[in-house]
Order: sequence, then C-alpha cells, then structure tokens
Amino acid sequence: MINLRSDTVSKPTDIMRRAMAHAEVGDDYYREDPTVIALEEKAAELFGKEAAIFVFSATMSNVVSVLSHTRRGQSVILEELSHIYNNEAGFLSAFGGLTPRTVKGEKGRITPDQVEAAVFPTAVLHPQTSLLCLENTHNHAGGTCLSLDQTRALSDTARSHGMKVHLDGARIFNSSMAQGVSVRELTADADSVTVCLTKGLGCPVGAICLGSGDFVEEARRWRQAVGGGMRQAGVIAAAGIVALDTMVDRLAEDHANARLLAARLAEAGLELDCPPEEVETNIIFATIPSGLMDAEAFVEGWAREGVSVNPPKDRRIRLITHHNISADDIEAAGAAARRVLGR
Ligand SMILES: *Cc1c(COP(=O)(O)O)cnc(C)c1O
Repeated sequence: MINLRSDTVSKPTDIMRRAMAHAEVGDDYYREDPTVIALEEKAAELFGKEAAIFVFSATMSNVVSVLSHTRRGQSVILEELSHIYNNEAGFLSAFGGLTPRTVKGEKGRITPDQVEAAVFPTAVLHPQTSLLCLENTHNHAGGTCLSLDQTRALSDTARSHGMKVHLDGARIFNSSMAQGVSVRELTADADSVTVCLTKGLGCPVGAICLGSGDFVEEARRWRQAVGGGMRQAGVIAAAGIVALDTMVDRLAEDHANARLLAARLAEAGLELDCPPEEVETNIIFATIPSGLMDAEAFVEGWAREGVSVNPPKDRRIRLITHHNISADDIEAAGAAARRVLGR
C-alpha cells in the first residue's frame, strides 16, 4: 500500500526500534528517566531554548503551552485554518475558558496589521488578548512556511501589546529544511514551541514542548493536569533521540517527492492548489475536476490500485509524503491515477 493519507502513518525505523528496546529508563515523575532527560536536553540545545518537556503529542504540547500562557476569560489570536483552532477538540474553550479570535491568512500566513486589528482594546468590556498562536509549517494551507522575517514581525507586534507568542511547529523541521534556516532561528521569537516527533520524523509517539525554564515548569504542571505525566517513558523518548539524529536531513527527499507527486497528478488532469514548483514542503492539495471523474470514485479506484488517501472534501484531497514513500512509489501512484482516470 502506498499510504499518502498523512506523514503520521510513517513507521518507526529499525534504529528507533533497537534504541527503544535498549533504552535506559527510570520514573520520569522523579526526573529519574535518563533517556527522557537526554531527549529534553538535546532538543533544548538544538532549539536554543532554556528547557524542554517531552509530551505525548503535539496536541498535548499546544494544550499545555496555551494553558501556561493564559488565564480564563482572555482571548487568543489564531489563523482561521490553524490546527489548534480546528483540530484539537476545542480545548481553547473546553479547558482554557478562552475566546478565540481568528484571522484569515493568505496560504496560512497572517500579517502584523491583521494581528494589530484583532487585538481587543484594554477596556474592561473585552476579553484581554494575551496570546498569538502561529503555525509553521501550516498544515491546512498545504505545508506552507513562515519565514524568519514574518515570524519576527508578527512576534514584535504581539509583544508590543504585551502578548506572548506560541509557535505550533509540529512540522518546524520541514520549514527549516525548505528555507535553509535553522530551527533555532525560526523559533527564536516564540515564547514556546511545539515540535511533533510522529509526523515526518517517524516516531511512534511523542512531541516536544520548548520554552523558558519557568514556562516549562508551568507546562509540567498542566501536563500532569491533563493526564500526561509519564513513568518509564525513556522507551519512547529513545525514538525521539534517534529522530533528531537521523530523520531531519532526509526531509528534503519528502519535499522533492511531494513536488514530483504534484507534477504527476497535474499531468493526469487533477487541479493542484499551487503549481508543482511552488510546493513548499511535504503536503499538497489536489482537486478532481467534476468533468474528469466523481471524486469519491477516484479515491476508491486509487485505493484498489494500492494508493491510500483520505476521503475528498468538496472534491479536494490532501496528500502527504514521508519516509516510507519513495520516488518509485510516487511514479507508481501517478501511473495508477492515470489508469483510474482512463487517461
Ligand atoms: C499534526 C499536527 C498537530 C497535532 O499533532 P499530534 O501529535 O497528532 O497531536 C498539531 N499541529 C499541527 C500543525 C499539526 O499538523
């Protein structure tokens, strides 16, 4: 099966599995798991942040970050298609008592002027705006990158209003690779950062949450509150260390494969959200034109040919490349698409 549903379907590598089997462990509640500590220290060093905490998922990292930066009754500015706003089961209101203020970005990118306009005045009438959430790369916009300059300008605007900045960098390594800018620089202006280990990096479970020492202490308390405390978590943290050591540089291959896939699907008659050469990272969106074929029928036909994608929404499908997909797989998927479409 050529599985293009998400990069979360990527499997742990043999090196990860060996590292997991042999990991030194202890009870992380007592801060006695040397492998968890090693992963947290390694990540903090790599990102140039004071501290890091290992959590179960990028969602959990976003939850503990937002709860650490805000108080009930306040408001948070986010891009309208952001993962936090759309795909994290409403934790902003459910756990945080927060009012989301959404802003519509261009390919996921919002501007300082939009942030400026979304900040509530300080009058007692309004929920105080205390946090700006950014997403890099932006999932629903098609893996688009936020540049260093954009991140800095947005953060400066947020700071000028006394707000904190949280960066949902679930795929920050993809952004770093695509732009040739280090993750340290790309995250320098954020008070906290989420990094997912289970997307392109291939781990079976886990994410890292980074920030100042005080922030991480607060995040550790919230992690406990949402049931995220861990014991001998070195077994899974070991995969994270291998991911940082061996899975980052190869992301360039996923980006090249995404571009190749976009080109092959365009040749087959699908409409891409952006031309193949403008695909920024490992995510593409394609629409099956109504004149070509019924979109559900195309997806079902493609599945029978061994290519798996999620059901279309408004005839549009998302495809994501990852380390278990080779250039040969992309060519095979392209040929299968043409067969299904009879072209
Ligand atoms: C996948 C994703 C998350 C959540 O990751 P999980 O580890 O699955 O919880 C958060 N933010 C973005 C931008 C994502 O793409």
